[in-house]
Amino acid sequence: MSKAAQPSHLRPCGWQALLPPVTPRPALCGDQVADLVVVGAGYTGVAVAQTYHSLAPDRRIVVLDAETVGEGSPGRNSGFMLEIALANDASADQLARMSTLNALSRQTMARLKAQVDEHDIDCQLQRTGTYRAARGDEGRRALARYQDFLDAAGLSYRRLDLEQLDTALGTRYYAEGLYSPDCYLVQPAALIGGLVDSLPEAIDCHERSPVLAVQRDKEAWRVSTSKGSVRAQQVVLANNAFARALGADRSRLTAIYTYAALTARLDSDLTAAIGTEPWGLLPTHRLGCTLRTTADGRLMIRAQYSYEAERDNATVAAGLKSSLVARYPELAAVEFERVWGGTTGLTYNGAPLWGEVAENLFVSAGCNGGGIVKGTLLGDALARLALKQPTVDVPGLFGKPSWMPPEPIRRLAFDTIRTIEQRKGRDET
Ligand SMILES: Cc1cc2nc3c(=O)[nH]c(=O)nc-3n(C[C@H](O)[C@H](O)[C@H](O)COP(=O)(O)OP(=O)(O)OC[C@H]3O[C@@H](n4cnc5c(N)ncnc54)[C@H](O)[C@@H]3O)c2cc1C
Repeated sequence: MSKAAQPSHLRPCGWQALLPPVTPRPALCGDQVADLVVVGAGYTGVAVAQTYHSLAPDRRIVVLDAETVGEGSPGRNSGFMLEIALANDASADQLARMSTLNALSRQTMARLKAQVDEHDIDCQLQRTGTYRAARGDEGRRALARYQDFLDAAGLSYRRLDLEQLDTALGTRYYAEGLYSPDCYLVQPAALIGGLVDSLPEAIDCHERSPVLAVQRDKEAWRVSTSKGSVRAQQVVLANNAFARALGADRSRLTAIYTYAALTARLDSDLTAAIGTEPWGLLPTHRLGCTLRTTADGRLMIRAQYSYEAERDNATVAAGLKSSLVARYPELAAVEFERVWGGTTGLTYNGAPLWGEVAENLFVSAGCNGGGIVKGTLLGDALARLALKQPTVDVPGLFGKPSWMPPEPIRRLAFDTIRTIEQRKGRDET
């Protein structure tokens, strides 16, 4: 089965729709020469370009993105920026490795925060912390494992019972939970827009320029779009799951769609009911729901997955609404203003696909749903690798992505795992 070379979305990005309209940068036209081409202007690609430029300011960098910044994949997420390892990465029995990862995540989050401050990026970045809460036995076991990890790592948190969760979040849906302070919330479309806007002027960025091929051109590489090409000594594929169509290892990476919706602005009674302080809640089960408030008084919900293709958004919207109303029956009459899907790159064991795949062709993909901070970290490390500078031992810390069977077995395996996990985590979806 051939994989798409670029993302396409059925509906506009809900976060971008809340922002003033922007004029996209011109698409790549004609033939150019550069030292480095970065494919993808997401968190990974931006970090590659920034770090590469800071270490080799005289080299010419061209960044190409298939979509318009903010409207594409990096603007479509839920805006959780974790300063510590993701729950599904966390493991108390690998403490030394996890402590290093936590320190690197904090350092990377501090870098992103400094950029937001320095360039005055208006993206509602706030250190709100995050809740994790569970209703059923499976979710409670996962919560206990996460608590073990936090204990072992000496990280602070607060336990919450049903009553305390109700006071904080205005829902009696969850039986127990915990609050950890190590997380920021952000408006993701505003963040990625601001990060791309604040790239040094010497870096050329072209939007609506899907890369169709990366081919050897004597001693260099030629990166081609439908209207132009760039010949460069080095190329970084930072286009997540779509890197497969351009030379990354397709046996280790897959594209997963997940879905989100924003309610209309809630009236003052409803806002009071769900809490006036901003908050975000991550699921304890991998198929569970993410919830958060927004600065302008809405609720966002994210849930559901599909394999390699976006599902009909009307069906998705009905599922998201039913999950929302299960938690907040008083929102039954509140409409979703926006529903959208987004892609993310997934590897079977959660380890990123990272490194040099052919001479001077590099890839970083497969952030497995936590890519704002992790993508920035891996992009920074990849720029250093490309410039032969000392860098983080990514395979040592994050592991190497495991092999996945080809189609149609892979799809069957995904569907089987999803069915099993859905059953196990049904209380959390
Ligand atoms: C609904 C949803 C909620 C999520 N919530 C969170 C969250 O709260 N926190 C978090 O950290 N992560 C979250 N994620 C995951 C997160 O968005 C990704 O891990 C992150 O965006 C990965 O960053 P990246 O730069 O590696 O890739 P991407 O953000 O996917 O960026 C890749 C870029 O490459 C471009 N591209 C693709 N193909 C081509 C091509 N052929 N030519 C040129 N350009 C191309 C794309 O347009 C895109 O701009 C969520 C994802 C979704 C879908």
